[in-house]
Amino acid sequence: MSVVPAVHVINGARVEAMGAESSFADINPATGEVLAQVPLDGEAAVDAAVRAAADAFPAWSATPVGERCQVLFSYKQVLESHFDELTDMIVEEHGKNVPEARGDVRRGIDCIEYACSAPSLMMGRTLPRIAVSSSFSRERAENIPLDSTMERVPLGVCAGITPFNFPIMVPMWMWPMAIACGNTFVLKPSEKVSLCAVREVELAKEAGLPDGVLNLVLGGVDASTSLITHEDVKAVSFVGSTPVARKVYATATAAGKRAQCMGGAKNCMIIMPDANREAAVDGVLGSAFGNTGQRCLAGSVAIPVGDAADWFVPAIVDAAKGIKTAAGSDADCGMGPLIDAASCNRVTTAIVNGVEEGADLLLDGREASMPDGDCFVGPTIFDRVTPGMILADQEIFGPVLSIMRRDTLDDAIEVTRQSPFGNMAVMFTSSGYAANRFRTEAGAGMIGINVGVPAPMAVFPFSGWKDSFFGSLHANGEDAVRFFTECRILVSRWF
Ligand code: NAD
Repeated sequence: MSVVPAVHVINGARVEAMGAESSFADINPATGEVLAQVPLDGEAAVDAAVRAAADAFPAWSATPVGERCQVLFSYKQVLESHFDELTDMIVEEHGKNVPEARGDVRRGIDCIEYACSAPSLMMGRTLPRIAVSSSFSRERAENIPLDSTMERVPLGVCAGITPFNFPIMVPMWMWPMAIACGNTFVLKPSEKVSLCAVREVELAKEAGLPDGVLNLVLGGVDASTSLITHEDVKAVSFVGSTPVARKVYATATAAGKRAQCMGGAKNCMIIMPDANREAAVDGVLGSAFGNTGQRCLAGSVAIPVGDAADWFVPAIVDAAKGIKTAAGSDADCGMGPLIDAASCNRVTTAIVNGVEEGADLLLDGREASMPDGDCFVGPTIFDRVTPGMILADQEIFGPVLSIMRRDTLDDAIEVTRQSPFGNMAVMFTSSGYAANRFRTEAGAGMIGINVGVPAPMAVFPFSGWKDSFFGSLHANGEDAVRFFTECRILVSRWF
């Protein structure tokens, strides 16, 4: 990959650090090589980006929605022609293997395609003759009809703050629909995947997006905080861990912004005794260890019900042993590195804690055959995990699967209901009765039945519940259109 300098993109131009006192070393986690020094800028850079977006807003919002979408149609073509380049960038900067990196780009393109429907999605409603009126003085009883219309209008400057784990896709949950609806945008991506984000934004210019409509500020907490509280920002879309999501939601709403904040997760997968065994093991395997467990839809708690444990536990351990932990660029890579050494420490600490808390360590990722480096840990499986253990309750965000055996369907569903998180829950079964009980009673907003990662396509909202989401309108789907627009109601009569 050609190393792109870590620069802001403001008003269509690359902008060097604006007074940053420190920088962040953005690395290739497979090798430890520093790819870029990312300026940890704050208020000055954010203000420049928001001003550029505010200046671009009048012309962009006045551009017919169909013309705005033409730019997105072009952008899709640009992304298709840069597909391999973006894939390589993700493999290098994030550490994903090639199929996972391709999935990241493809799911991002899905969001562009959906945003191209903005002319239909933004349509308002009209109800003619909603009432009849006479004049105030009642001297004339004219029965004049009143017509009423609702139309959707953009908000102004919107902001997005994104995590590291889907460097191309998650920013595309936000800015394409925001700009399709006529807003302008400032993106603050994760400092850990800055180069992918810069490329994503620069390619939009190549597709013909006018300067200032989409801007990007690099940085960490200072940049986020300045953006969330900037007086000209109308809406904040955030994706990241739960403690930060909670804080961003509180700060943004206290500052008078609308906010949607997607947080972390601890997702349960129930395996019923009647499940198709091969499909259940394969589904759990991909959910727990795909993307090295760094998905908000990663299944991290497997709940075999009754005697399902007899076949499920040995089979999942056996299957996990077959995953090759390697650099994402390795053609046989089943699981790449974690994003950084701190994540690796968090995962190995969770393994130590799990042993101390009394869970059975069936597969120890520290012992896996894997490349040298600070970011690798192999698939790890604990059995006989119980509620209250860190392994049961906290998001580890790495390749650690906790098995929590339960005797009955009721007990298993109850685990999902007790969890403070509510992103997703999955069941493997061949029973329609069990599946129907599960889909209506599980305590999560995204449900998989015989599907390990029930990721909604872009036409549906990404519907986390409880501590996995703060706000009321989710990312994607029609929720996104509502989030990025305001309703204007017109009532009229003509004499
Ligand atoms: P993170 O919370 O550390 O960082 C996310 C973003 O917030 C980054 O841009 C970061 O620079 C910024 N940030 C960090 N601390 C901040 C603070 N105190 N104030 C303001 N901004 C701050 O998350 P991460 O490690 O990059 O990503 C992993 C997390 O994201 C996991 O918890 C995962 O479950 C979650 N996630 C959730 C979803 C979802 O849709 N629910 C999707 C993807 C990832």
